[in-house]
Amino acid sequence: MPVLTRLLILGGTGEARRLATALAGEPGCRVVSSLAGRVRVPVLPPGDVRIGGFGGADGLARWLRDKVIDAVVDATHPFAARMTANAATACAAAGVPLLVLRRPGWTAVPGDDWRRVGSLPAAAALLPSLGRRVFVTTGRRDLAAFAGLADLWFLVRSVDPPEGLVPQRMQLLLDRGPFALDGERALLREHRVDVLVTRDSGGTMTAAKLTAAREGAIPVVMVERPTVPPRVAVVTTVDEAARWAVRPP
Ligand code: NAP
Repeated sequence: MPVLTRLLILGGTGEARRLATALAGEPGCRVVSSLAGRVRVPVLPPGDVRIGGFGGADGLARWLRDKVIDAVVDATHPFAARMTANAATACAAAGVPLLVLRRPGWTAVPGDDWRRVGSLPAAAALLPSLGRRVFVTTGRRDLAAFAGLADLWFLVRSVDPPEGLVPQRMQLLLDRGPFALDGERALLREHRVDVLVTRDSGGTMTAAKLTAAREGAIPVVMVERPTVPPRVAVVTTVDEAARWAVRPP
């Protein structure tokens, strides 16, 4: 009898969907993808899908035991730090092997003027020395970090409306990538942006703003990713994750 691996993919990213697609025709693997349920009309991967939180690390550990899951691939967004921490705790508790699939971060090239910082408050502390008109693409959460900068103007782009306190002088742009270079150039020009704040999400979908900033000699404040919990295996490509998934340790 062939061995069947029951795999949980923690998703919400293009990589997670591509992994579910790659494993869809794999006879030795039965996949269930999990989505947080934040997006009203999510793009669903092939295979079984469950939606909604597990109820913390304990809830996830219970779920893994109940569903007799053999392996977990955490393919969440690089900044979904809570889910990644919960997955590490839950998999250790349930004795289930875990792999993190994380796309590589961005790398500066000649002509870039990047300042790497560890947090949004650290980004906010730098801004007054760098510019007056700030383009922020760090997501809708934690914009309170910029609320005290009353002399600066902010263009905030996010998929959903911000939560909590926001900058006092702010224009909101609700939009979802991918973003093309022409559009990013035009946006920076139209709003006379002189500094960009972004997270090191990596990938190609939202990278054009970095090229546009380089061309315009606009400094970039790059918020570093949260670290992956210790002793958790990490790969950067869907192919590597697919190979691991059909034969987990
Ligand atoms: P987070 O802060 O790390 O997680 C918050 C809580 O949401 C988790 O504790 C968990 O609830 C639930 N959750 C997160 N991902 C889940 C998943 N794949 N399946 C089931 N429950 C999940 O995560 P986040 O930053 O809010 O991101 C939520 C989702 O959006 C993730 O799937 C992520 O891949 C995707 N996403 C995030 C970003 C981003 O910028 N953060 C960007 C693009 C896509 P319980 O504790 O109840 O289990």
